Amino acid sequence: MNQETAKIPQATAKRLPLYYRFIKNLSSSGKQRVSSKELSEAVKVDSATIRRDFSYFGALGKKGYGYNVNYLLSFFRKTLDQDALTKVILIGVGNLGTAFLHYNFIKNNNTKIEMAFDVDPGKVGTDIGDVPVYSLDELEERLEGENIEVAILTVPATSAQNITDRLVSSDIKGVLNFTPARLSVPNHIRIHHIDLAVELQSLVYFLKHYTEEDTEMSQDESVTE
Ligand code: ATP
Repeated sequence: MNQETAKIPQATAKRLPLYYRFIKNLSSSGKQRVSSKELSEAVKVDSATIRRDFSYFGALGKKGYGYNVNYLLSFFRKTLDQDALTKVILIGVGNLGTAFLHYNFIKNNNTKIEMAFDVDPGKVGTDIGDVPVYSLDELEERLEGENIEVAILTVPATSAQNITDRLVSSDIKGVLNFTPARLSVPNHIRIHHIDLAVELQSLVYFLKHYTEEDTEMSQDESVTE
């Protein structure tokens, strides 16, 4: 995100891509305006939160009119740096890593996995989903001068910290960590942790122990906190 958004609270910033995806769909279906109620139903964020979030974007909805879709679209595009490509690497071409290489976030036209790394000689030297897989030994050398800021980690948990330390020394700014390991990094590095096994277990737990009403409340909390 660019500097203009520096003062947007983090909880609001996290919702930006969600809003952007919905507004983009609205715009391609030819809609010119949208009310906070419609937005709220679509993205499952309560309308008071939407109004507060949008006030940070300088988008002040008008009563009876709502928000101008084109204004929002150009704001999100600019703010999320949609015109600049963020290059990504992936480390660990196992089952999950391979799936990501094939998927390659094609719908996000501003991010692209440029290269992947693994230690398995059977994988090194191959191309998966058009992404070349290099030996982890070459990590520093391959990153040199490439201006790559983000790494996706899909290695076994036991290797995660060591690889992260190398990424930090190679000027990576953010890590999307799919391993169960809790990583230690300096303050200027951002880690987003997605532990799929924990998420699945917590979903199953919620289904078993909470009523429909509790679930609605918790969904609201998760997007508004
Ligand atoms: P697979 O079935 O291919 O083994 P998996 O997802 O079940 O996949 P994991 O043991 O989680 O297997 O390993 C994921 C990938 O990470 C594998 O391709 C493995 O070769 C690779 N890997 C293991 N250790 C490292 C490491 N230190 N650096 C980079 N890649 C590694």
